[in-house]
Amino acid sequence: MRAPTFTPPATSPLLPLPALDALVAAAIDAAAGPRHLRAVHAVILRFDLHHSCFLVAKLLRGLSHYRVPLHPYPLRIFSLVPRPNPFLWTALIRSAVILRPRLPDYQPLRLYSLMRRQWPPSPPLSFTFTALLKSAAADLCLANGLQIHAQSISTGGFDADLFVQNTLISMYVEFCDLASARRVFDGMSIRDAISWTSLTVAYTKTGNLSSAEGLFERSPAKDVVAWTAMVTGYAQNAMPKKALTTFERMREAGVVIDEVALVGAVSAIAQLGAAKHAVWVRDIVDGSGFRQDVVVGSAMVDMLAKCGLIDEARQVFDEIMNRNVYTYSAMIVGLAAHGRAHEAIALFKEMVGKTDVKPNHVTFIGVLTACSHAGMVEVGRYYFHLMKDEYRIVPSPDHYTCMVDLLGRVGLVEEALELVRAMPTEPHGGVWGALLGACRIHVKPEIAGIAANHLFELEPDRIGNYVLLSNIYASAGMWDEVSKVRKLMRARGLKKNPSASWTEDNDGSIHEFFAGDGLHPRTHEIKDTLEDLLGKLKLEGYDPVLSSVLYDINDNEKEKLLNGHSEKLALAFGLLTAGAGDTIRIVKNLRICEDCHLVMRLASRTVNREIVVRDNLRFHHFKDGACSCREFW
Ligand SMILES: [Zn+2]
Ligand SMILES: [Zn+2]
Repeated sequence: MRAPTFTPPATSPLLPLPALDALVAAAIDAAAGPRHLRAVHAVILRFDLHHSCFLVAKLLRGLSHYRVPLHPYPLRIFSLVPRPNPFLWTALIRSAVILRPRLPDYQPLRLYSLMRRQWPPSPPLSFTFTALLKSAAADLCLANGLQIHAQSISTGGFDADLFVQNTLISMYVEFCDLASARRVFDGMSIRDAISWTSLTVAYTKTGNLSSAEGLFERSPAKDVVAWTAMVTGYAQNAMPKKALTTFERMREAGVVIDEVALVGAVSAIAQLGAAKHAVWVRDIVDGSGFRQDVVVGSAMVDMLAKCGLIDEARQVFDEIMNRNVYTYSAMIVGLAAHGRAHEAIALFKEMVGKTDVKPNHVTFIGVLTACSHAGMVEVGRYYFHLMKDEYRIVPSPDHYTCMVDLLGRVGLVEEALELVRAMPTEPHGGVWGALLGACRIHVKPEIAGIAANHLFELEPDRIGNYVLLSNIYASAGMWDEVSKVRKLMRARGLKKNPSASWTEDNDGSIHEFFAGDGLHPRTHEIKDTLEDLLGKLKLEGYDPVLSSVLYDINDNEKEKLLNGHSEKLALAFGLLTAGAGDTIRIVKNLRICEDCHLVMRLASRTVNREIVVRDNLRFHHFKDGACSCREFW
């Protein structure tokens, strides 16, 4: 510890009082700890300066900075001042806010009440209220917060002070009362960057992106925090396109990009599965100085894998020096989703065998998915138990989904049903969906009926479930049941096919297609290209899977509906625009249907081009007429 920087004069001061005050004040500022402050306090006493509100307030601030408890020392110093002024009172209240004393007598609000009752009365300052409001917010005590807000109005209109208003906004945000925060904001005649940003950030955190956007666009003072909040807000609320345009605007505005904004943009691209964007953002990360940041790096691995660039993901992973559980999990999950099961499991073994990184629940999703892809039932069972027994991770419905998928894939559908029935928590749609998928492959109509009934309750609008069940009944020749499913669908008025697919063009622009939609500017060319392709496929023996359509219409109309499926439109657009030899990459929001899977598979051979489709569950790499999922999805 340094020696105190202040050496008092040996005899009575020859300095004029203001100069001595300034010297002592500077010594308080320079004090390196409570011991130094005590030394300065001794000097204050010696020169009879202990009545100075200015010096004592400064001393209190210094002591609270070093977290010296309010009782007894700082309170004693305070009590020696005969008539504390508002600044000194406020310093004492702020100390109480910082130190949070346990005794009720020293609570900030109690001290405020003493301040108001002394004679002559001591008027509060704006900083008195900012301190009190912060204390109410920290204690999450709405009643106190409201009282203080009322006081700030009744004791002289402090609610019109910029600092008080900004603190009121953050207090109401803390109480999740955004309507009150907004009322304060709307009543402000002057606002600074803090006012705009704090409310914008609060809106993004609660998922109210339209209010956040309204405020952000009007804001004359967009700081890096507000920009970043908008990018991440859009990304976290499934609005990836908006996240990306905002990120680009942020760069154009010359705002310094921080790691949080980068992660927001990276996760938006992951949602879109847009490979060209992924390459674009990788260059930005490389030039940003955050290349070795483990959070950015892990997000990059996840994004590249979700954009179908699994080798590039591995490359980034290998370059990260300080990998943590998120980095490993992103890589293992990515490898598993791409069907590279053995590589995923090898990486898991490396992680637990050669590093100190402990797996978490996401790591095990990857491991179990990998086992499922490779049909390794015993290995999968082993890891499921290892997760529970060795790592004490309680299996979530997502882990059960992996296990049902694993058992179902190899035909152990009854065992999968038993597992679901033994689940300690309520199974979600994913679990039942995996079971229904397994019933399709192995034609298990009874179990399919059980799974589907749960799904019809959990996801009543998802047409794909009705189609799957009806196909399973059809394969088993149970035509009465097929017509029952159709009736149910009709009774529920399910008409609209909510599926959407998208793909990037050569410039990286994203083109979106909806089922049966003719909205794309090149829609005629797209339809011609698709017709052309399907004609060629038919010559090679393609027979449309009409059972993928459940409506009571004739076969011609069924085929027409099938040909309007969004992933087929995206495929035709890809064929129309992609350069020679380029892989066509399509992302679909729902599970790919049987007919589309067949068309993709055959097309990959006929047009001699790789096609990668990411549906809501996995990647399908179509090449030379085969799919990486080996017909299980
Ligand atoms: Zn389809
Ligand atoms: Zn496939």
